[in-house]
Amino acid sequence: MRCYRHEQAPSAEAPLVIGFDIDDTITAHPAFFAVVSQALRGAGHRVVIITMRVDAGQAAADLAAFGVVYDELHCFDLDQRGDYWGWKGRLCASLGVEDFFDDSPDILARMPATTLPFLAVHRPRHDLSLLSEADEEEIEGVIGAGLGRS
Ligand SMILES: [Mg+2]
Repeated sequence: MRCYRHEQAPSAEAPLVIGFDIDDTITAHPAFFAVVSQALRGAGHRVVIITMRVDAGQAAADLAAFGVVYDELHCFDLDQRGDYWGWKGRLCASLGVEDFFDDSPDILARMPATTLPFLAVHRPRHDLSLLSEADEEEIEGVIGAGLGRS
C-alpha cells in the first residue's frame, strides 16, 4: 500500500499549493469548498482552481457565488484538446500543486508523482468496491490482538 507523506510541515516560507476542480467537485458541496478554500488562503496557503470549463468569466462568477476563494483560476484551453486527460496533471506539475481534488479518475490517474490525487466519489458512477482493500482475516487479527486474543 502506498503511503503519502508531505515532506515538510507547511510554513509561511513554504505554503501548501492545493488544487480543486469545479464541476462535480466544488459543485458537489460548494459550502465545504468555500470553508476549505477560505481557511487555506487565510492561513497563507495557495488555492488553484483547474477546470475543463472554457468560460473563465462564468467560472469566476460561479466560484464567487459559492464563496470559493483562490489565487489562480485555470480554464481549459481548446488548443490543448489533444491532451485532454493529461492537461490538469501537467498543469499541477508546473504549478507545484501538492494535492488535487477532482471527480475524474481518468484525470487523477494522470497526476504527476508530486501531486496527491483526491477523488470526489459519486455513486453509482464510481464503484468503490473495485478499489476495496479490505482483508477480513487481517481485520479480525488486528481486533483480536487489541482484545488480547492474538
Ligand atoms: Mg469535474
